Amino acid sequence: MNTWTARAVTAATASAAALVLAGCGGADATAGSTGGDGLTVVAGFYPLEWAAQRVGGDRVDVSSLTPPGAEAHDLELAPRDVAAVADADLLVYLDGFQPALDEAAQNEAADTAWDAGRAADLVPTAEEDAHEGETAEEHEEHAHEDGAVDPHFWLDPVRLASVGDALADRLTESDPDGAATYEQNAAALRADLEALDAEMRAGLAGCAVDTLVTGHDAFGYLGDRYGLEVVGISGLSPSAEPSPAAQAEIAELVRERGITTVYTETLVDPAVAETVASEAGVRTAVLDPIEGLTDESAGSDYLEVMRANLATLQEGQSCS
Ligand SMILES: [Zn+2]
Repeated sequence: MNTWTARAVTAATASAAALVLAGCGGADATAGSTGGDGLTVVAGFYPLEWAAQRVGGDRVDVSSLTPPGAEAHDLELAPRDVAAVADADLLVYLDGFQPALDEAAQNEAADTAWDAGRAADLVPTAEEDAHEGETAEEHEEHAHEDGAVDPHFWLDPVRLASVGDALADRLTESDPDGAATYEQNAAALRADLEALDAEMRAGLAGCAVDTLVTGHDAFGYLGDRYGLEVVGISGLSPSAEPSPAAQAEIAELVRERGITTVYTETLVDPAVAETVASEAGVRTAVLDPIEGLTDESAGSDYLEVMRANLATLQEGQSCS
């Protein structure tokens, strides 16, 4: 049925993306090997790597600790990764997202670690309801204690632009001669992200279905920004597998709300989302949380994959 068609389309998109990647792959490698006297920047995972590359430009050599195709949440660091963290001029990471890296940041890079989340206005995940009689501030404190702050800020282009601006300031601290370059690059990044934001705002303004059922709970900030209610089948991390009862509950919600599409992810086994979709009798499509790029990503950088996500959402949520 429909699921089969969706897979065929996905496969075609993936081959196209692979060609694009093959065409662009060389540029990164060259930049890395020729910029000998630039700042060495180590990033935790893809969106931070991409932002650091955009803001740092030619003045930085950026590498990512999460290998392409690996699941970013569950990052494990080899001894050479820990050494890279210790040696870097700047570590760009996201506190609370990759526990192994949080530890390395604290132990190996106390003076050079920069937490992108501080500029991202992180908030507790939506499914954590405030306890009765509690102020929003009190609730936020609880949520912090519980570790329930949603880390996935990069799926909101506006938040990512703020992180880019703050990163320009941090790079300037380490390399004052680059101040003007970093400022210009961050402004160019902001312009690209604001254009993306405008497209998403327009593209998602008139959707017949406004509940989004996704693999793990990565799209809360995107949902908040564009007026979609997000239900993640797993929790904030894809490794938290839901009980059969919880899956059945989501399948019921899918039927009740007239949802036509349940979204799977590129880097996570689609089995659980597919079970929910088939229980509810709806199709699946791939929505990319952009925690890493692979040959199967629907684009060669953050902006391209976000635009592919927008097209997927417009179809899956029946947006006019
Ligand atoms: Zn995630």
